[in-house]
Amino acid sequence: MTTSQTDKTYIWHPYTQHQTAAEATSIVKGDGIKLFTEDGAEIWDMISSWWVNLHGHAHPKIAKAIGDQAMELEHVIFADFTHKPAARLSKRLVDLMPAPLNRVFFSDNGSTSVEVGLKMALKYWHNKGETKRLRFLSFEGGYHGDTFGAMSVGKWGDLFNPYLAAIHSQVDLIPFPETWIGDTDVEQREADALAKLDTFITEYQDEYAALIVEPLMQGAAGMRFCRPEFLQKMQARLAAANILTIYDEVSTGFGRTGKMFAFETAGTVPDIICLSKGITGGFMPLAATICHEKIFAEFLGDSFDKAFTHGHSYTANLLGCAAANASLDVFEEEKTLEKITEIASWHQENLKRFINHPALETVRTLGVISAMNLKASDAGYMSAKGAKIKAFCLEKGILVRPLGNCIYLLPPYCVTRAQLDTTYDVLFEALDL
Ligand SMILES: *Cc1c(COP(=O)(O)O)cnc(C)c1O
Repeated sequence: MTTSQTDKTYIWHPYTQHQTAAEATSIVKGDGIKLFTEDGAEIWDMISSWWVNLHGHAHPKIAKAIGDQAMELEHVIFADFTHKPAARLSKRLVDLMPAPLNRVFFSDNGSTSVEVGLKMALKYWHNKGETKRLRFLSFEGGYHGDTFGAMSVGKWGDLFNPYLAAIHSQVDLIPFPETWIGDTDVEQREADALAKLDTFITEYQDEYAALIVEPLMQGAAGMRFCRPEFLQKMQARLAAANILTIYDEVSTGFGRTGKMFAFETAGTVPDIICLSKGITGGFMPLAATICHEKIFAEFLGDSFDKAFTHGHSYTANLLGCAAANASLDVFEEEKTLEKITEIASWHQENLKRFINHPALETVRTLGVISAMNLKASDAGYMSAKGAKIKAFCLEKGILVRPLGNCIYLLPPYCVTRAQLDTTYDVLFEALDL
């Protein structure tokens, strides 16, 4: 049997309808933006493998760091024990954070980093004696992961898991004031969102533990961008109302929106930041939830009951920490943030001919991400036209994965101008399908 046939017999894939899905393509090698199939075909990964890859596939520096670490020590229990890669990584992450965010809790993936953030917020208030604070604020279209807590603050229960409506009851949703090139109504949309926030705060102020938001960009909802001005006004209201803010930077972190983190562009300081996806350069599953010192302080006490009762078997895995440190080294050695600025300008130039294209509704770009919404009568996650464009691009050796009627590019930072231009040519052709 081929790999794909064995896979089809035994494996259950994520977000896949196996009754109708084609056999999965077996990938045997990666190099930069290139993936190679078992049959020798070359595919350009223009979505960074679900937004995790940063510097290209099989980057030798990160690969070597993992290999070297594995020969020394692969993993060790992280209660009562520690190790240099975790200590070094936590210091480096804290140095990249706003000053009061200086305590790092490690876990394994984006969803767990969100669970950790939500639980930190809940127990923070509990430890302070404010035991009524069990509600959360979040955004329509927000996506925070697929575990229960993360699902409950996301707005995806209705679409993917209709049976979960009940667990949404303690979460109040604010409209996300998305914007795009040529948008003239953004201020009205922001005012409406803030008005909704004000209404919720008036009604439930003393019941909220925290607000959770994907800052500047909702990823899974279809690369929807908002303005820094909105986050600033939102933050001011939350601070005045004494409600914690959690920034889910799982997808925006590590350069995607142009700066290292979205909070830098936003010019705001949340209380908790969740990181994963790109943290290891896309090599190992690892996550970090970083909190304000005032939160950590509330968990201290003479007895265990105030402690944070959370942990995972692979907390602060050594290979993950080694990969993350190597990825941060690459940022310095390859001047990655400068490269990101270049990629952003290539997007802007290429998008010019897409703006006002009759097949498109909206066009937008931020950092290394560009996105366009098809005028599709069947908009939404299961859009048929999006699927057609995906198949067309794959035939030309380019991997895109539309989110419904939203076609987006999110290439690894090693992409060349020529590769990106070629990709845009293929997309332009695909719009006429
Ligand atoms: C992908 C994602 C998550 C979940 O991360 P996983 O590693 O897939 O569990 C959470 N939040 C955001 C914003 C994401 O994009």
